[in-house]
Amino acid sequence: MTVADLTADAHRPHLEMIRGGADIDLGRAERAVAELLSALGQDISDEHTRDTPRRVAAAYAEMLTPRAFNLTTFPNDEGYDELVLARDIPFHSLCQHHMLPFKGVAHVGYLPGERILGLSKLARVVELFARGLQVQERLTKQVADWLQDQLDPKGVGVVMEAEHLCMSLRGVRAEGSRTVTSALHGLLRADHRSRAEFFSLTGVRP
Ligand code: ZN
Repeated sequence: MTVADLTADAHRPHLEMIRGGADIDLGRAERAVAELLSALGQDISDEHTRDTPRRVAAAYAEMLTPRAFNLTTFPNDEGYDELVLARDIPFHSLCQHHMLPFKGVAHVGYLPGERILGLSKLARVVELFARGLQVQERLTKQVADWLQDQLDPKGVGVVMEAEHLCMSLRGVRAEGSRTVTSALHGLLRADHRSRAEFFSLTGVRP
């Protein structure tokens, strides 16, 4: 499934592939979870565990399947040329290395060109790319690239701050540690004043 398949009025094909729900075989996933639990020495006949393989398979299927949405854009009639920023968009995703969740907030902004975007769509774009096995760096870049591609704005900035359960629950057990990533395009990358304004509005120090 390509990103372009998920949006009604995407105006050009998108090359970047993301993991969609199309290839999910729930029955096979369920059997594999049962096998995993057994291999980990867990009792799968216990009343609480009996239906766990089905629940786990369904939960992962949901977390790996992006929800389709219509990309609604509007003409920028008023010629608005200041930063549009949606701050603290909550998101969660699955770490590609451990299949454990990471969750946090995204700050997504752009400097409008000819078109502006329905505000709720900024959150939907984050969700579109977050539903899948991800690494935070790529997720951040995909959101920024996609907006740049679809909206052709004068600039795009995306900052994501997230706590990774693979860091807090295991290994170094760095509880509460947040990873911050950013991706910038256009003026938000090239113009130091726009860039500084973006980071000061997000509350994140570059
Ligand atoms: Zn991980």
